[in-house]
Amino acid sequence: MLNLLIFGPPGAGKGTQASLLAKKYALNHLSSGELLRQERENGLLGVKIKKYQDAGRLVPDSLIIKMVEGAIKKNLDGKGFIFDGYPRNIYQAKTLDRLFKTLGKNIQIVFNLKLNSKAATERILLRGKTSGRSDDNKKTIAHRLQVYRQQTAPLLKYYQAQGKLKNIDGRPDIKSVFRQISDTIKTNI
Ligand code: AMP
Repeated sequence: MLNLLIFGPPGAGKGTQASLLAKKYALNHLSSGELLRQERENGLLGVKIKKYQDAGRLVPDSLIIKMVEGAIKKNLDGKGFIFDGYPRNIYQAKTLDRLFKTLGKNIQIVFNLKLNSKAATERILLRGKTSGRSDDNKKTIAHRLQVYRQQTAPLLKYYQAQGKLKNIDGRPDIKSVFRQISDTIKTNI
């Protein structure tokens, strides 16, 4: 199994690169934001999830962990996973490590898509014109970036300590970023 994680601030291109990776390596693309957005459409939890997403805050761990673990267990006979937007804090990361250990699986590479806040904001505002996402607006972006810095960025050290972290320049066009990622996989797997 090839199991990968992709990190980066909102707007860095995680979703786009994760889709390309899923296609190239036949991985299951597991986007926690997307799982939550689907649940908003269908589920009873919709109103609660919308409140957190529209405020740019992380939804409670208990809720997202249950959803992600359900999606993992459903796809264990696949070729692997690309996690996009998960984990978002140290508790989620430790819970994921514990689950993978129990399952006898491993996360091989953690990508960090690097992009500064100014460029990230510009990209999200552009995306907001067509994405239809209620959290792609100026006010929510500022909070999402703050949450990223405070709760998610510290995870980079956690994965660096495990020797898994690979930094990727998120500034160039989609193809060039994907080339950096693919080359990293080629030389490390
Ligand atoms: P994303 O699609 O990854 O940009 O996520 C959009 C929003 O969904 C975030 O701002 C959070 O409100 C929520 N969300 C996504 N992933 C997580 C997660 N792993 N833990 C908590 N909340 C999350």
